[in-house]
Amino acid sequence: MAVESEIVEEDKEVQPEQSVEEAVQEEPKEETRSVLPGDLIGTSEEFIPKSGAYLDRGNIYASASGIVKINNKDRSISVDPVTNTPPHLQVGDIVIGQVTDVKDSVALVEIAGIKDKGEREIVNADQAAIHVSNVKDAYVKELYYEFAPFDIVKARVLDLRNMRLSTVNKELGVMKAYCGNCRNVLKIDNSKLKCPKCERTETRKLSSDYGTGII
Ligand SMILES: [Zn+2]
Repeated sequence: MAVESEIVEEDKEVQPEQSVEEAVQEEPKEETRSVLPGDLIGTSEEFIPKSGAYLDRGNIYASASGIVKINNKDRSISVDPVTNTPPHLQVGDIVIGQVTDVKDSVALVEIAGIKDKGEREIVNADQAAIHVSNVKDAYVKELYYEFAPFDIVKARVLDLRNMRLSTVNKELGVMKAYCGNCRNVLKIDNSKLKCPKCERTETRKLSSDYGTGII
C-alpha cells in the first residue's frame, strides 16, 4: 500500500511539464492539500473515497471544499471541510442574501452565504442582482411588489460574471420580510404578508420556506 503511493509521488516528480514551483507546492505535504468541489484528488486504484469525496469513472473527486485526508491504513481518502477555506460561488449554487436596494428592473442583493457551504465569507461574490425577468414564472408588474430592502432571500446563481440571481422556483424567493411601516417581521396570513403589529399587508415573491428558517 505504501509502495503504491510512493510510486505516485515519483511519477509526479518526473513530469517534465510541471514547473518547479508546482512540484514544490504539491510534493511535500499531501495532507494539507486544499481542494474545491470537483477537484481531482486521486484514483480508485489508489484510494477508497470516504466523506467529502466521490468516485466517477475511476477518478476520485472532492465533493466539498477542504483539506485532503489520506488514511494509509484503510487506503481511504476524504476531504475535511475547514473553516479557513472560504467557499467559492458556482453557477447553480443556492445562496442566501439580503436585499439592499430595489430599482425598476433589478433588486440588488448582498450575498451572505451559500446553501450547504455554511454562512462564511465567500471569495468571489459581493453584490448580486435579481433582474425583473428572473423573479418568477409569472409576469412581474412592479418589482417593488416582489422585493423590499432588508428582505432575506434565497436565490439561485445564474452567472458569475454579472452575479445574476434567479428566484424562479417554488422554494426560492423571500424567506423573511420586514414591515415597511414598523420593521416588524411579516407573517403569512392567507397567502399574503401581514404585520402582526400594525396590520399592514405587503406582497413579495415568497419562498415556500418563508418563515420556516429552513435554508
Ligand atoms: Zn408593521
